[in-house]
Amino acid sequence: MELTCEQLDAMLPEFFDGTLGSETEAAAAAHLATCDACRVVVHDLERVGELARSHGRLQLPDEARGRIRSLLDTADGT
Ligand SMILES: [Zn+2]
Repeated sequence: MELTCEQLDAMLPEFFDGTLGSETEAAAAAHLATCDACRVVVHDLERVGELARSHGRLQLPDEARGRIRSLLDTADGT
């Protein structure tokens, strides 16, 4: 399953929530591994989450943060 940037963008909320199915999440990860543009978007969202969290407004679950970070690390390593 290959995703377009638009498809990935549309599923980012669920991606951050961890509510994508495992197949879909794998497809999202595969897209992120090959698409700099979407990686930048996820990076930005993660940073926004950190900022919001430091202001006590939005909680990004540690599990989601860890998963995103490991995806980004994997993508950077290849
Ligand atoms: Zn993309």
